[in-house]
Amino acid sequence: MNLKDANHDVKFAVEVAQRAGLLGQYIQKRMTEPALEKEDQSPVTVADFAIQALVGYLLQGQARPDSLVAEETTGLLQAEKGEKTLKQVVKFLSKAGLPSNSKAVCKWIDWGLGMPEGRYWTLDPVDGTKGFLRQEQFATALALIENGQVQIGVLACPNFMFPGNTLAQPGSLFLAIRGEGSWGRSLGGETVFHPLQVSVIDSPRNMRMIRSVEAGHTNTDLFAKILQRLGCRPEPILMDSQAKYGLLASGQGELMLRLISSVRLNYKERIWDHAAGSLVVEEAGGKVTDLDGKDLDFSQGSTLAKNRGVVASNGAIHNEALAIIHKLGG
Ligand code: AMP
Ligand code: MG
Repeated sequence: MNLKDANHDVKFAVEVAQRAGLLGQYIQKRMTEPALEKEDQSPVTVADFAIQALVGYLLQGQARPDSLVAEETTGLLQAEKGEKTLKQVVKFLSKAGLPSNSKAVCKWIDWGLGMPEGRYWTLDPVDGTKGFLRQEQFATALALIENGQVQIGVLACPNFMFPGNTLAQPGSLFLAIRGEGSWGRSLGGETVFHPLQVSVIDSPRNMRMIRSVEAGHTNTDLFAKILQRLGCRPEPILMDSQAKYGLLASGQGELMLRLISSVRLNYKERIWDHAAGSLVVEEAGGKVTDLDGKDLDFSQGSTLAKNRGVVASNGAIHNEALAIIHKLGG
């Protein structure tokens, strides 16, 4: 994959992911302001706001700016308790070379209030904020959606070691283009993308299952039962964010399950949590469906309203896993 031959959208997506990933990496080590709490009690940090502002800024600088559907809004930042956080966001963005001030930052972030219709980008600036706060995995996930279909997906995973990365810093960048393939490279330095291929392991006993670190984002009891039924011997891999999709696409795991949490039975997955990652896996030869075996439907607004949970795999035992999940009532 030579980026020089890629179209404008692909080049833009890669540039955005690279800059966002490096900014996230920088902030994770230097953030002093504690996370704020959103209405749904999930944390939001300086990095979530700064990265979404960066992406809004870069989109607005385009000749024909596309809409953006993104996770964060400026409500908390504009309230009194968000004052210090906003100051830090302005500081980090100035450091990154943006003409940053409070008003501009809020305008860039609110570019993310676009409508999920026709052609638009969807962004999770810091996917896995809890992992980010634990100094563990997180990702910036950006995808281009056209008429309900994901066309381009990029994931910047600042703490994910790309196989063969010889740099001092960890960090990976994943790119998928519908119908063309998936590629990966280290986040800093390297410019050549390597094609990705899911693992060829097809025996359940050797399969590495993958799930969220956060028990509240899945059903850990059911996960353990499925693992046992399938007879997978390797320890499951627990990882935050869509870095899990990168892991699967680069052949380092075989079966990722996002089961329904028993305390939030009606939870609907957000498009920005799966758009980029699912394309990265599919274009690397893997399979992604919901728990009922249906394709993820990105034509339903900002949630996957017609889906339940997610199953992503190298394809080998996808249907077997679905059957077990169904039998166990998942
Ligand atoms: P992960 O790092 O894989 O645990 O995923 C983080 C994402 O999980 C966050 O971006 C949230 O949007 C999403 N999330 C929050 N609550 C739930 C839930 N009850 N079930 C599934 N995903 C959730
Ligand atoms: Mg997220």
